[in-house]
Amino acid sequence: MHVNSMFGTLPLRRSFVMTIPFRTIPIPSALAETARRERRSPQYGHPAHVERATGYGPCRLCLDTFRVGEDDRLLFTYNPFEDLDPYPSPGPVFVHADGCTPFAAPEGIPEPLRALPLTLEGYAAGRWLVARERVANGDVEGAAVRLFAHAAVAYVHVRNSEAGCYIARLDRAG
Ligand SMILES: [Zn+2]
Repeated sequence: MHVNSMFGTLPLRRSFVMTIPFRTIPIPSALAETARRERRSPQYGHPAHVERATGYGPCRLCLDTFRVGEDDRLLFTYNPFEDLDPYPSPGPVFVHADGCTPFAAPEGIPEPLRALPLTLEGYAAGRWLVARERVANGDVEGAAVRLFAHAAVAYVHVRNSEAGCYIARLDRAG
């Protein structure tokens, strides 16, 4: 896109956007390994369930989407507030049933998540929900920056906007 100005035709620069680097944290790999090995929820003891993927997921460990009809996934109950707050919110999560490589990039959002309907929730100490934002057009960074701009927000939970399920956590990087 170009604009005409007294200096001729210039490329239109995007306005300066504040960036706050963040990293995406999957569920603990040790917990996923225990769920795979023992076929039960490590936090609750409920039986875990293995099935051929009928939806995209994603896997809460590698944070990639499932290949529907091909990948086997393990379903178990998970509390995403463990070690963050004593008030739990157990809910269902999926991981690849047969093992996968945990997502470990030092910064940014896993690209497969960008296409999913996501809602970000910014929490302060004491599990107080400071602000919630539904991601529009895959702009996870924009929504995350607006939440982390609140000084009180300590971490952000990523949830599926349609199912409500917990997907991952965002922490400020660095
Ligand atoms: Zn996986």
